[in-house]
Amino acid sequence: MNLPVRKFDALIIGAGGGGLRAALQLSRAEAHVAVVSKVFPTRSHTVAAQGGVNAALANVLPDNWHWHMFDTVKGSDYLGDQDAIEYMCRAAPRVVYELDHMGVPFSRLDNGRIYQRAFGGQSRNFGGEQAARTCAAADRTGHAILHSLYQQNIRARTHFFDEYFALDLIQDPEEGAVLGAVAVDIATGEPIVIEAKTTLLATGGAGQLFRTNTNALINTGDGMAMALRAGIPLQDMEFFQFHPTGIAGKGMLITEGARGEGGYLLNGDGERFMERYAPRVKDLASRDVVSRAIATEVREGRGCGPDRDHVLLKLDHLGEEVVAKRLPGIRDTVKTFLHIDPAHEPIPVYPTAHYTMGGIPTNRTGQVVAPEHHGPEEPVQGLYAAGECACVSVHGANRLGGNSLLDILVFGRAAANHIIEFLAEHRYHRPLNQDSVDRALERLARWDRPAGGERVSSIRSELQRTMEDYCGVFRTEEVLREGVDRVLALQARLADAGIEDHSKVFNTARIEALELENLMDVALATVCSALERRESRGAHSRIDYPERDDNQWLRHSLFYKQEQRVDFKPVRIKPLSVDTFPPKERVY
Ligand SMILES: Cc1cc2nc3c(=O)[nH]c(=O)nc-3n(C[C@H](O)[C@H](O)[C@H](O)COP(=O)(O)OP(=O)(O)OC[C@H]3O[C@@H](n4cnc5c(N)ncnc54)[C@H](O)[C@@H]3O)c2cc1C
Repeated sequence: MNLPVRKFDALIIGAGGGGLRAALQLSRAEAHVAVVSKVFPTRSHTVAAQGGVNAALANVLPDNWHWHMFDTVKGSDYLGDQDAIEYMCRAAPRVVYELDHMGVPFSRLDNGRIYQRAFGGQSRNFGGEQAARTCAAADRTGHAILHSLYQQNIRARTHFFDEYFALDLIQDPEEGAVLGAVAVDIATGEPIVIEAKTTLLATGGAGQLFRTNTNALINTGDGMAMALRAGIPLQDMEFFQFHPTGIAGKGMLITEGARGEGGYLLNGDGERFMERYAPRVKDLASRDVVSRAIATEVREGRGCGPDRDHVLLKLDHLGEEVVAKRLPGIRDTVKTFLHIDPAHEPIPVYPTAHYTMGGIPTNRTGQVVAPEHHGPEEPVQGLYAAGECACVSVHGANRLGGNSLLDILVFGRAAANHIIEFLAEHRYHRPLNQDSVDRALERLARWDRPAGGERVSSIRSELQRTMEDYCGVFRTEEVLREGVDRVLALQARLADAGIEDHSKVFNTARIEALELENLMDVALATVCSALERRESRGAHSRIDYPERDDNQWLRHSLFYKQEQRVDFKPVRIKPLSVDTFPPKERVY
C-alpha cells in the first residue's frame, strides 16, 4: 500500500503542555517540527489543570528551590530520582517567568508579583512551616498555560496535524532506532507515515483506567502502549494517584487549591478528622495520605450522607469574596454537577483516580532509556518522552500537587534542547522500515473485520470497574492476583470484539477501539507491577505489607509487555550538586 509520507526533523505526538512547550523550543530554533494530536491542541487535558504550577519564587512566603526539592523527594516517598528532582526544582522559577513573558495571565498580588497559594506537602526550611509555592491563574491555570503555548507555537510556525491519531512508532529492526510514526487522519480515516529524525511522545496520562476519575475521555495512555509494543518497558506503573477530593460518585476534580485557600474536610460526626492523620499540616498533607484517610473514615463507618459513602469539603467559612476570586471554576463545577453553591454549603467528596506517576522511562534530558538485553540502560536512538506519559522520575511513589505542570514544562523544554543538539549531528533521515509500517497498518485493518462478539464500550466499562475494584486505593495479594486474571480475560475478549461501523469518515468507533487496546496494555502493566511490589509506599498501599521496606524495595519497577515480566532498577539517590536526602520516615 502506498501511503502519503511527510518528513520532519522532529515529530511530537501530543499537544498538551509538554508537547507544546517542546515544539515551541524547537520551532524557535528553526527545526522543522510537526505536532500530532488526536484532539484540537487546546482541548488536551492540560487545559483542565486548576490549582497551579510550583516554583520557589518566594512571592508570598520565604522559599528556595532546595526546600522545594526536599518536599518533592519526601512527597515521592523517596522513590523519586534526586538528580531529576534537583534539575526540575532549580529550573522552576525560570520556566514560570518564561510563561509570564509569553502572556500567561497569572493572578497577581497587590505589589504586582505572581500570586502563589499553599498546596499539599509544601514546607519551608526542610519540613518546617507551610510554604506557598503554587503559582496560579485563579483556578484555571492549565487553561491559561495551554492557550498561551498554542498561540506562541502558531507564531513560531509549528506545523500541526490536528485530529490525527498516532497508531504506532516506526522502528529500525536492527538497532531499534525510532524513525517516526504511522498516524490516521480521523476526518478521512486515511493513514499517513510521518518520518522524523527524532520522535517525542507527549501523550499524557491514563486516568481512563478507572471508572471514577478526573481525566478527559482521551486520556487512554496511547503513548505508553506504543512504547510497550516497541519493546520498551513501563516504569513504576503501580503508583497511580487518587486525588482526595473528587465530587463524590462523579469524580470531577475539586482542586487542592480549595484546601490551600483554607478549606477543610469533615466526617459524618462533624469531626475535622485530618487532625488525627496529619497532626501538623492536617488537610494539606500529601495526596496519598489524605486519600487513604478519607477511604479509612468511610470504611470505618464515619462517612457522610444516607449511605455514609463520602466526606465533606467545607469552604463556606472562606467568604463569598475568596470563593469568587480564587475558586471561580470550582464554584461553577459544583453548581453545574451538584446544584449547590460551595460558598454556602459543603461539597460531598471522595478520592478519584487522577494521575499516572509511572510511565515511559527517561533520563533528565527526555531521552527514553531501556536496558539493553538485561544490561545497563541505554537511550533508544531518536526517541524522547515528556510529560505525564513519561517517568523521569520526579514524582516517585506520590506526586505533589502543582508539580505536574512544572514537570511537563521543564522536561518538554529539556527534551527539545537535547533534540536540537541531536539534529545538529544527525542531518539525514535513516531509511524507512516497511515491516514496521505494515505492522501498524495491520492493527488498524483488524477493526475492519465483520462485527461479531462483544461491544467495545461494554469491555471498556468492565475494565474500568475491574481496575477500581482490584487495583484501587487499598490492595492485597489475593485481590491483585484476581485483578491480573480479570484484565487478561478482558484482553482476550477484546481480541474477539468487533465494531459495526466500518466507514472511514470520522469513524470514532474505530478510534475508541484502538484506544481500548492501549488502555488494556497499560492496565496490565499497572496491575502486574502492583502485584510484584510487596510493600506500601506512597500511593501504593498494600494491606498485607503495610510498611515501607527500603532494604528490598527502594527500586523502580519495569514492566515488559512481550514476556509479561516485571523487573527492577535502582533509584538514583545522588543529586547533581547538593547533598542527598536519605530515606526517612515520612510524617506530615
Ligand atoms: C482535572 C485536572 C486538574 C489538574 N490540575 C493540575 C494542577 O493544578 N497542577 C498540576 O501541576 N497538575 C495538574 N493536573 C495534572 C496535569 O494537568 C497533567 O499531568 C498535565 O497537564 C499533562 O500534560 P501532558 O502534556 O503530559 O499531556 P496532556 O495535556 O494530557 O496532552 C496529551 C496530548 O496527547 C495527545 N494524544 C494522546 N494520544 C494520542 C494519539 N494516539 N495520537 C495523537 N495524539 C494523542 C492528545 O491529543 C493531547 O494533545 C491536573 C490534571 C487534571 C486531570
